[in-house]
Order: sequence, then C-alpha cells, then structure tokens
Amino acid sequence: MSSKDIGFVGHGGRSIHERVAEYSKGEFSSLPSLELNSQQANECIGLGYGFFSPLEGFLNRNDTELVCNEMSLSDGTLWSIPINLNASYETLKTKGIREGEDIVLTYEKRPLALLSLEEMFDFDLEWMARKVYGTGDQKHPGVRRTLMQKGKFLSGKVELINEPRFRPPYDRFWLTPRQHFELYKMKGWQHIVAHQTRNVPHTGHEWLMKYCWFAANEDLPVDEPRTGVLVSAVIGEKRTGDYIDEAIVLGQAELGNAGYFNPNVFAVSLLLWDMRYAGPKEAVHHAIVRTNIGCTHHMFGRDHAGVGNFYKPYDAHYLLKEVKDRLRIRPIFMKENYYCTVCGEVTNGELDNHADKAQSFSGTLIRSILIDGVKPTRGLMRPEVFDRVMEASEKYGMGSPFVTEEYLRSRPPIFTLDEGKGGD
Ligand SMILES: [Zn+2]
Repeated sequence: MSSKDIGFVGHGGRSIHERVAEYSKGEFSSLPSLELNSQQANECIGLGYGFFSPLEGFLNRNDTELVCNEMSLSDGTLWSIPINLNASYETLKTKGIREGEDIVLTYEKRPLALLSLEEMFDFDLEWMARKVYGTGDQKHPGVRRTLMQKGKFLSGKVELINEPRFRPPYDRFWLTPRQHFELYKMKGWQHIVAHQTRNVPHTGHEWLMKYCWFAANEDLPVDEPRTGVLVSAVIGEKRTGDYIDEAIVLGQAELGNAGYFNPNVFAVSLLLWDMRYAGPKEAVHHAIVRTNIGCTHHMFGRDHAGVGNFYKPYDAHYLLKEVKDRLRIRPIFMKENYYCTVCGEVTNGELDNHADKAQSFSGTLIRSILIDGVKPTRGLMRPEVFDRVMEASEKYGMGSPFVTEEYLRSRPPIFTLDEGKGGD
C-alpha cells in the first residue's frame, strides 16, 4: 500500500501520511467488494487523506476496546471516538469476505478505497454506546447510530483508490490536510485557530472568532502576529431542522467577502464527518482532527457537540483541560454570549451588567428570523450574511435554509466518484 509523508506533524506527534494511490481500470476485478454507506465513505476519505492521523485504517478489536475504555490507542495516543467499519453477516457470507484479503470498498457502486482486511470481530454495541456516550438511551442519536451497526467489525489499513470530486459550491471549500498546510504557508500563518461549525454565522459567532484570533496571537511577534481563523464546517449526515450545508459554507464565507474578516486572516473549509453528538468526547475528537489540518488552537464554546440535555454545558471544557497535555492543539474556552442593546456590542453576562437588556442569540430566535425572511438587525446577523443565506435557501434548499424531508430526498451528492478507475 502506498503511504506518503506530507511533511507535517499531526496528532500524537506523528507525521501525517496520505494513503492515496492511482490504479488502472480492472485491476481489482478479482477482489471481493463491499458497498459503504455515506458515513463509512466519509471515514474512508478521512483515513486516506490523514484527517485521522495516526490512524491508518479502521480500528481492530484491541484498539476499539481501549478507545472506549481509556480514550487511548494501544500505543498510548489519545483517541476518543472509535472509527469502525461494519458489515452484516449476510454480506460477509455472500461476498466470501475473509481475513487477510484485500477488499474493494465501493460507494454508490464506484470504487473508493482498498481495505487490507486484518481482523473481523463481534463487539458488544450496547457496552460501546455506554462507554462513548455515557448513556444507553436510544433518544441519543449517537447511541442509535452505534446500535445500528449490524454484523461484524472489519479492521485494517485503508488506501484511497479514487479521489472524491466535490460539487459546487463545496469544491471551493474542500481541502485535504496537505492542502490546509499549503494554504497556511501561502497566507504566512503561524497560528491557526479552528472554529467548528454547523451553523450560519450570527454576530455572536463572529465575536467568538475575533476574540479567539486575539487569544491565538499569544507569544507571536508583537508587530506581525500571523494568526488565521479557520472556519471548519462539519459536513455529513443531516437531520431535518439542521441548516442546509450550502447556507452554512456560503454564509460563513460571506464574513470574509463582506470584509467582517480580512481575507488575510480568514478561511473556510469543509470537514467530512458525521456528528456523533458525543459532547465532551467528540470535542476531543474535533481537537484531534483539527490538529491534523494544521490548527494550533481550537475554540470550544457552550455545549460543544452536545445534544438535548445529555451533557452539561461546559463538560467539554472539563474533559479538554484533563487531556490537554496529550493534545498538540490548544483549546480556547469560550462562554455563551449575547448582544447587549445598552453596550451596543456582543458581550456576556459575566462581563457586563445588562443581562435584562440582552438579546440572546437563541437558536429559536435566529430560526424564526430566517424562516420569516425579514432582515435582522446588524447586531444579530450581518445583512450580507443574511442575503447569502436567503440566496442559498432559494437555490439549494427549496426555499428553506433548514433541512426538510424534500431536501434530504432530492439534494445532489456533495461529492462524486469517477467511474471505473478501479473495480470492474
Ligand atoms: Zn451591556
């Protein structure tokens, strides 16, 4: 299998490797194939490009157990969310898939990756769900997702044999880890602070990013602090009521286009990842992945990657403080903020004493503004951002900035694969 050092050190202090190779048509026609769902395809792509460095493939039994039990890989590296590949007993039987063989992993019937299958194993999914999510409650979407994995887990190294092609508007935002490093080099950034998002930006988000820019300038030369803000938009499985992906990336990019951020300090990119809503453990995972796309700092706000009331608002901050010596990236901890009509700016209830005059950035409020299509005040959302979001709703969301059943049924894929580079 090919493995190329991209020349940058990632999580665990290990060099990041790309595992991408070109193969000629028909080369794998004799190998068994396994069709992936979208989550599995996203994770293959993540593994192939080094987003999950130092992982080289799907976890084996021993590492899966250690990750669940001790948040650790067998070499001691911090790891919080198991990355597994499963296949049903029936599929494994009909395809005649056996340990020690190479398997072609296909997505939408097209070859995507090669798996050197090392181990097939059964796993106690309920135990896994309790360990990772701290609950067995099936109302938790991550628990449901865990329990849905039927059959056996398959471990082994993964190599991409067909690179995804991203459709507009995503093509402007897709960067591999290597391309992220190249971008920073071009911009001359020494520090990069990640802002994880699945939202269109309101001014509260903008303020958080701006504060983090100052914070991440620490210990850089006084006259020339070269810090960039990277908006890292998580793109993956959607649920109805989420923002549509197009509104997220185009709305975020507008902060740069309209000058709220100087392009010299601002960039937006995609991260293919299906949210687990694992709260604190997912926050650690986000820190790991952002390390592998070259970020030196990472903003963590209120209830990072949480869902419902499963985690307390600042649980992620506690866990990150505990494990920070095992991370290369520095977390920046932020609290919930609001727009104060007296101060005329974004602030929070620990800083000012106008809580009764505060306009909160509650999801319900922003949601009702966007549904009504009435331009919000500048203090809540930038007018240019609002316009881009409304355009995206018309163009991609069938009139809605939020995911509907219709959007889920009819949205075109985010990326496509070329036909017949490998496989049959
Ligand atoms: Zn105030």
